Amino acid sequence: MGAGPCILVSNDDGIHSEGLQALADALGEHGEVVVVAPDREQSAVSHSLTLHRPLRIDELGPRRYAVDGTPTDCINLAVHVILPRRPALVVSGINKGANLGDDVTYSGTVSAAMEGTLLGIPSLAISQVGRPPFDFRIAADFAAKLARRVLEQALPADTLLNVNIPRVEPGQRPRGVMLTRMGRRRYGDAIVEKIDPRGRKYYWIGGEELSFVAEEGTDFAAISTGHVSVTPIHLDLTNYASFAALDGLARGW
Ligand code: MN
Repeated sequence: MGAGPCILVSNDDGIHSEGLQALADALGEHGEVVVVAPDREQSAVSHSLTLHRPLRIDELGPRRYAVDGTPTDCINLAVHVILPRRPALVVSGINKGANLGDDVTYSGTVSAAMEGTLLGIPSLAISQVGRPPFDFRIAADFAAKLARRVLEQALPADTLLNVNIPRVEPGQRPRGVMLTRMGRRRYGDAIVEKIDPRGRKYYWIGGEELSFVAEEGTDFAAISTGHVSVTPIHLDLTNYASFAALDGLARGW
């Protein structure tokens, strides 16, 4: 081992996820893969960084480390502590379930790639759309091919790729690959209210199936027509189109 570029692999489903293993295996042909992932599921932790308690690194095997923190913690510790050299690529996933539209802002999977991007490393987030049982073969194969292209051609500065793989029937392939923009989630009654055994109310977020506004060119549209969705994402959240409308707000102070 030690051959080829260093590829850092992480996720938010935890070090024991089959999606992570499938990704690490597939990327092995393109470089030296090092896995640094949360020791348990950290889905929807977004881009959080652990600042108020110590973090521990557990070496589980050769080039395989668990961290008792978030995906963002993992990327930071990997780059600054664990890896003997700077990674040429960060790949996060394969997530169990979609990371589409507005949900990207909650995603630990995408946040690992955001952290890689902040550190100046080309980064990809890979998610398999659907529900269990998951088949990661198509996603792993696509991730490996995309990784090779990115290693050869690089990415535009400050840009990560958020990749979602559609669920297809056994024996079928996705219909193609589309470059997309982030779609918008349709919010319904997504909070379930129940009564616990002691008579107190409790609430559970996310009771509903995902639903998105149907708009052409979006990640959701690509997935709903059986295409792989590749959304280039940057970390500048500024709404440039609003400057003219907000001009008056900044005047006359
Ligand atoms: Mn997840």
